[in-house]
This record gives sequence, C-alpha cells and structure tokens, in this order.
Amino acid sequence: MQTSGGFTKLAEEVIARCRKLATFSEDAGGTRRTFLSAPRILIGSHLDTVPNAGAFDGILGVILAIGLVKSLDGSQLPFAIEVIGFSEEEGVRFGIPFIGSRALVGRVDEELLGRKDERGISVRKAIQDFGLNPNEIPRAALRDDVLGYIEFHIEQGPVLENLGWPLGIVEAIVGQNRLEFTFYGQSNHAGTTPMNLRHDALAAAAEWIVAVESLARRAPGIVATVGFVEAKPGAMNVIAGEVRTTLDIRHASDGARTEALDELIRLAESIAARRGVSAKWRTLLAQHAVAMDPFLTEQIDHAVQTAGCEPHRMASGAGHDAMILAERVPAAMIFLRTPGGLSHDPAESVHLDDVAKALECGNHLLTQLAASQEFLGRTCRA
Ligand SMILES: [Zn+2]
Repeated sequence: MQTSGGFTKLAEEVIARCRKLATFSEDAGGTRRTFLSAPRILIGSHLDTVPNAGAFDGILGVILAIGLVKSLDGSQLPFAIEVIGFSEEEGVRFGIPFIGSRALVGRVDEELLGRKDERGISVRKAIQDFGLNPNEIPRAALRDDVLGYIEFHIEQGPVLENLGWPLGIVEAIVGQNRLEFTFYGQSNHAGTTPMNLRHDALAAAAEWIVAVESLARRAPGIVATVGFVEAKPGAMNVIAGEVRTTLDIRHASDGARTEALDELIRLAESIAARRGVSAKWRTLLAQHAVAMDPFLTEQIDHAVQTAGCEPHRMASGAGHDAMILAERVPAAMIFLRTPGGLSHDPAESVHLDDVAKALECGNHLLTQLAASQEFLGRTCRA
C-alpha cells in the first residue's frame, strides 16, 4: 500500500507525462491490444482531443491508469489490468466519435471504415497508415473475460470546484436530444406594418427561447440550450418571416428529459399559434441516458470515502468512452475536479492533490475488487 506522499509523487509523474504528451502528434492513437487469458479489468480513456485543447482531457485517464498499476507495487491481483488508450473519441477528424471504443463493442462497420477526413483519407486508410490492419478490428471485440471498465476523466465542468470536492462519482451519462425548430411568420415592411398586424417569426422564437431557459431552470437536472438562431430575410428594416433555431436538451433520466422536451414542443406550438405564426420541428439526434454499473459505482463510493473524500454522485453532461463500453461490460467513471471548470482549452488543468486522491481512490478500489467474490464471479454481458 502506498503512503499519501507516495500518491503525491505518482501524481506529479502523471501530470508531467500528460503535459509532455500534449505536444504529441494528433495522429497518435490506435487501440493496440494483446490478448490475455486471465479475467481482466479495463482502465483507460481516450488519447485524442479537440484542436487547441489542454493536456488532460482523456489522456489523464490513460496515464493515471498506468500510475495506478505502478501504485500496486508488484502486488498480485486475481485479475489482469489492461490499460487502454482509445483513439478518436471526440470525432473531430472523421465527424464520428468513439471510434476506438466502438471497436471493443463490435460496432466498427464498413460504413464507418469508409468515412473520410478533410484530406479525403478514410478511417481504413488512416488505420493502415498507422501500421495496423483494419481487417483485424473484429478481433478487438470484447469477450466474456472482461470484469469491467473503469474510466478516470476530468469533469470538464464547474460542479466539483463549486462544491470544493476533488472527486465525483458518475452515476449516469446523460441522454440528449437535438432538434431543429423553424418558426414561419410573414416578412413585411418594418415601417408600414402596425404592431397588432404582424406575424413576427423572430419575436415568436425569442419568446420560446426564454421559455426554454425558464423551464430548464425549474426542472432539476435538465440542461437545455438554444445555441443557434438564423432569421430570414435578416434585414434591419424587415419583419422576420422565418427563423431557424436549435435545441439541445439533456438529463440523466430519459423520462425527465422526454417530459421536458414534450413540454417545450407544446410551448413552441402555443407561442407560435398565439402570434399567428407556425412552428415545425425535426429531430437531429436522440440518444438515451446510460447508467453506470451500480455495483462498481457503489465500490467507487466506498473507495472515495476510504481515500478521505466526499462521495459526491453526479451525472456526466458529456459523452465518454464509458458510455459505449457500458453496452457490453459493467462500466463506471470517476471525475476529477477541473479548475475553473475549463476544458477543451489550453488553460485546462488539474490539481496535484486531486490526482493523488484519484490514484489513492483507484488503489483502494482495486484492493476492494480483488477481495470481492461477487465481482470476481461476474462475466461480460456478451
Ligand atoms: Zn474526454
């Protein structure tokens, strides 16, 4: 067992390595696996990030996993640990996220392999250029010897910092809907059309946008965002005849999300009708929430407390590889406080003490799992 000074020293190594790798080429990555015969736990995260990013999104979870193995100091466990660095989690290069983790759940198909980046290079070609054989991807699919997947990741938000706690236990990754709403009114002369004879699509959209915000503020856990508005014809002296806008709505519970979404659709229709405008909408994305494994989550809760931290449970507002892995194996996530809530930015950082706490928590977790007959008796849901 490491001393707390030992975890701090390991944390220093983890942070230094993340910073060093931040200067590494964007083409690095790829899922190199060896096939082990012992039942195993997967620990990891992703290696890629977005342009102009910081040093910790994703890669911290990979380097921290290596630090965690080091913290075991050679002690024997009844399972193997496989550290994984996933490629293409963000979807920046090919416009499709989670390519590495999809390979592990058997969801890389010909259509995905044929996707091309801006330079016209397909996923298949990129894998070949990296020195790997795309035809072997099916072999990466998980079999029934995997006991679970654990991912450490920076929170990428302000919640833990606001609470003053270093670690968060992810209970679920939120589900989300993305929709496009279009309000159809009548464009007309801004000077000659009296206020009571207008069908202003932009005023209708504006009223609805404020209603979106106020509903989300009232409904616990809902986050809803209108991030895009386009008014036509878009002239200073013309009443807007058509407005296209978007909605992004998320919640850890599918029921709560669907209920709020239905209400927002009703509101769009009623606000439009009252103003003599019509509203149409279409779904661009509908993704259900993904619960983390309750047993692993409970074990993490215990490990976090043993490490002397508050076991704060929370939902992840962003998608992660754990969401994909959860299709096939018990998956769980631990968040680290993100200073300033700042991520996907060069200023992204972590506190040394938080990384040390995460290592300590991970070390306790592995010790607990090694002693748990319930855990060792589990197999993959394949
Ligand atoms: Zn990430």
